[in-house]
Amino acid sequence: MICYKYFYLTLVLLLFSSCEQKKSSEAVIGKNTTDEKNISAPSIVILGTAQDAGSPQIGCNKSCCSHLFNNANIKRHVVSLGVLDTENNKTYLFEATPDIGAQIEILTHLKGDKSNTLVDGIFITHAHIGHYTGLMFLGKEATNTDKIPTYTMPRIKSFFENNGPWSQLVKNKNIILHTIENETPVQLSNTLEVTPFLVPHRDEFSETVGYKIKGPNKTALFIPDIDKWKKWDEDIIEEIKKVDYAFLDATFYDGDEINNRDMSQIPHPFVIESLKKFEKLSFQERNKIIFIHFNHTNPLLNPESMESNSVLEKGFRIARKLDKFKL
Ligand SMILES: [Zn+2]
Ligand SMILES: [Zn+2]
Ligand SMILES: [Zn+2]
Repeated sequence: MICYKYFYLTLVLLLFSSCEQKKSSEAVIGKNTTDEKNISAPSIVILGTAQDAGSPQIGCNKSCCSHLFNNANIKRHVVSLGVLDTENNKTYLFEATPDIGAQIEILTHLKGDKSNTLVDGIFITHAHIGHYTGLMFLGKEATNTDKIPTYTMPRIKSFFENNGPWSQLVKNKNIILHTIENETPVQLSNTLEVTPFLVPHRDEFSETVGYKIKGPNKTALFIPDIDKWKKWDEDIIEEIKKVDYAFLDATFYDGDEINNRDMSQIPHPFVIESLKKFEKLSFQERNKIIFIHFNHTNPLLNPESMESNSVLEKGFRIARKLDKFKL
C-alpha cells in the first residue's frame, strides 16, 4: 500500500515538473538577456528579425508601428544571426546591423565568458543599410576595435576600402577584411565552416550572398534577402533538403502590405508565394524553414496575428529574437 502511494506521488511530481519546464522554456522568448542561461553547445541564436529599416520604422504612423514607438517592452532588432562556437569559446556575427551593440551583448552574455565582449568574426551578406552599417560602431567614435576579422566578397570589400567612413575602419585596422569567394568554404574551426553563395538581389554597391553555416552536427542556410525564388540558379527546394535549418527571406507577407501592387513586380518572395512553393514538402521538411527579415508592415512580426498562427499550423517556423538552434 505504502509502495503504491509512493508511486502515485512520484508520478504527480514528475508531471508537475515537466509542465513547469515547458512553461519556463516558452516564457524565455522575448525576455531580457539577463534572464538567459549560457549556451553549452555550438548554436545559432536569433539576434534580430526585422527588415533593414527596423520595426517601428521611421515616419510610420500606421497601426503596424504607431503603438511601438513608446513601448519599451517590445525591442525588435534588425535581422541578424549569432553563432556560438562553444568548443572554442568564440562568437560570430552574421550581419552588422544598426542594433549591433545590443546584439553583441546578447551573444557575449550567452557565451558566459566576458574576457572578449566583442565578436571573433563578422559575415555580411550585402551593402544594404540593415546589413552592414553597424560596422560604424567599431570605429574611433565608438568602441575602436582591434582587427576584427570581417569576411567580405570582392565587391563589398572594394566598397569598404574605397568609401568613407568604412575606409577609415580598414585604415585604422578596426576591421581586417578577409576575402571570401562564391561557394568556397571558410573553415573557422575543425567543426565550424561557413560557405557564401551568390543570390540575385538589388546589387547597387555590392554583390549579395547567402550563407551555409555547417556545425559539428547540423547545417543551416541563411538567405535574408533574395529576389523571387525562380530568379535564382539553384532550386530552393533542393537546397532545403540538404540542410537542417533554412532561415529565409520573408520581407512581405502578401499584397495587402504594399497596397495591392502587382506582387510579381516586388523583388522578394512573398510569404504566401513561399508557402505555396513549399506546400509540397513533407511536414518534416517544412519544419526546417524559419521565416525571417520582416518588413514593419509584415503581420508575422506579431506572434499573436492570424497570419503567424496560420504559418505555424502549416508546420513552418517564424524567427523570434533569442530563439536558439543547435548546430
Ligand atoms: Zn535586407
Ligand atoms: Zn509601420
Ligand atoms: Zn537588401
